[in-house]
Amino acid sequence: MKEFFRLLREYVSPYKKYVGWSVVLNILSAVFNVFSFSFIIPMLNILFGLETQVYEFIPWGSAGYSFKELLINNAYWYVGDFIARHGAINTLFMLSGLVAFMTLLKTACYFGSSAVMVPIRTGVVKDIRLKVYNKILALPIGFFSQERKGDIIARMSGDVNEVETSITSSIDLLVKNPILIIIYFGTLLYISPSLTLFTVIFAPIFIWIMGVIGRTLKRKSLEAQSLWSDTMAQVEETLGGLRVVKAFNAEKKMSSRFEGVTDSMKKKTARVFLRQVLAHPVSEFLGTVMIVIVLCFGGALILRGKGFLGEDFIDAPTFIFFMVILYSVIAPIKELAKAIYAIPKGLASMERINKILDAVNTIQDPAEPLETGEFTDSIRFENVSFTYEDGKNVLTGIDLTIKKGKMVAIVGESGAGKSTLVDLIPRFYDVTEGRILIDGKDIRSLRVKDLRELMGNVNQDPILFNDSVYGNIAFGVENASMESVREAARIANAEEFILEKEEGYDSNIGDRGVKLSGGQRQRLSIARAILKNPPILILDEATASLDTQSERIVQEALDRLMSSRTTIAIAHRLSTVRNADEIIVLHEGRIVERGRHEELIALGGYYKRLYDMQSL
Ligand code: ADP
Repeated sequence: MKEFFRLLREYVSPYKKYVGWSVVLNILSAVFNVFSFSFIIPMLNILFGLETQVYEFIPWGSAGYSFKELLINNAYWYVGDFIARHGAINTLFMLSGLVAFMTLLKTACYFGSSAVMVPIRTGVVKDIRLKVYNKILALPIGFFSQERKGDIIARMSGDVNEVETSITSSIDLLVKNPILIIIYFGTLLYISPSLTLFTVIFAPIFIWIMGVIGRTLKRKSLEAQSLWSDTMAQVEETLGGLRVVKAFNAEKKMSSRFEGVTDSMKKKTARVFLRQVLAHPVSEFLGTVMIVIVLCFGGALILRGKGFLGEDFIDAPTFIFFMVILYSVIAPIKELAKAIYAIPKGLASMERINKILDAVNTIQDPAEPLETGEFTDSIRFENVSFTYEDGKNVLTGIDLTIKKGKMVAIVGESGAGKSTLVDLIPRFYDVTEGRILIDGKDIRSLRVKDLRELMGNVNQDPILFNDSVYGNIAFGVENASMESVREAARIANAEEFILEKEEGYDSNIGDRGVKLSGGQRQRLSIARAILKNPPILILDEATASLDTQSERIVQEALDRLMSSRTTIAIAHRLSTVRNADEIIVLHEGRIVERGRHEELIALGGYYKRLYDMQSL
């Protein structure tokens, strides 16, 4: 229940005014309903000539009369007056017209009350989706392990839909039905307290019995289900062993074995079907018995002239009116019960969604962030160690200084921790031990946004979005001018292929850029980095997946991008790091060698071995 109120508070409260309107319209609809049926009383009286008494008009508010007495008296007076002036048939027409008109008003209000709830039904689901999506954007990369990704997608689709079907559609029912029930019950009480009391005591027992019988009858037999899987198992076995069955001439034997299962299944399901077809007649019979009992009881009271609470009892037409309202109250009760049953299922889904929404974001801005300012000096790793959430220790005791304007290459075999090391700089993950400083400031003392502003990424798999060429290059820069985007594309050796496209910069590149070749995608992502113009560049095997021809063009673009910037590059192809100012060799999460290419070759250690392997 707590979850339900949280849902109402968080998601429904912005739509309060719609709920308000729905309440008003539902009240009107119920009132019109009651009034339209109340005309049945005089109509029946006229039709059967039951009304012989002559009524005088009593002014409203006269002392000595209750409102009910005045209402009945004056209504009868009016109808009597109308009959005297226009005749009984015309009166009948007039009353019928009124019933139709009242019903029109009632149904219009009924429609309105559901229509004003539509923005809630659709809006709440949209709000939940958007909230989950924004949470995905906010949570750190470390949150999204492979299994979590699948899980989140399941929650986005399955669970949000479940909330939609079982909760937001129930909100309408939850608002509407209590109002209808209260008003109808109020009316019943007003018409006849005795009969209402009788119904209230007796009907629930009956409804309960009907429910129990209905459920028992509709229940599918578990036995029939298990027989079904036996059947399938036999078919599967036969398919697999067909060769043996034929070789041993065992067709007959298999067939009679199969007939055995199908036959017992036939008998079981026949019983289930019989019970199922019994459900409806039984419920109809019980329903009628219930009405008959109310009729008998009411009829007896009419004949006696007194209710068992001692009041004057109602006449026959009023009794029929009572029955009509009693009948009207059944549907809202059913709907309310349905809504109440549906909610727990939706709440279970809501709980799963809340697990994501309540996930704590571990990468936060500090309370009092330092200003980043311009990047002037260096990036320093001080005794940095890192362990993934699953307890896997990946980096140990990393000490490293990257001076402004230098290019540092990180090499090592796969799994050595290269990607993890560069992921620590933009705080995709936080260090487990030690610290990382930019110009002497711990990166955790800066605003995350400011920190990432300093950096540009080019990855092995360029990450592009289903958007135009322009949109992809200008991805990280707000309001980039066309001119600056072109300039960036030119520097990135990309302009040529862009202009060859039919719509140039407006061409859509497809999902993740499928309409481009690998080298073209890479050049777009370089153009994106050029446009952002960050002082620090992080390159992750940017040319590893390209053929030699495109590698040359891309490398050229990269060289332009790297000049005058501080670069940290992960490299597999050692040929690309010959010019690095320093090469860091990682092995099982530790720096084992460092220096320039020639020095490391001369050293004859890890780097030399890696280099020799590649030369082969
Ligand atoms: P490299 O880039 O040198 O190939 P990585 O930094 O990608 O190495 O990975 C280093 C080690 O950390 C590997 O053993 C890898 O399995 C592990 N690892 C990488 N990412 C995660 C993660 N999100 N959760 C747990 N372990 C990870």
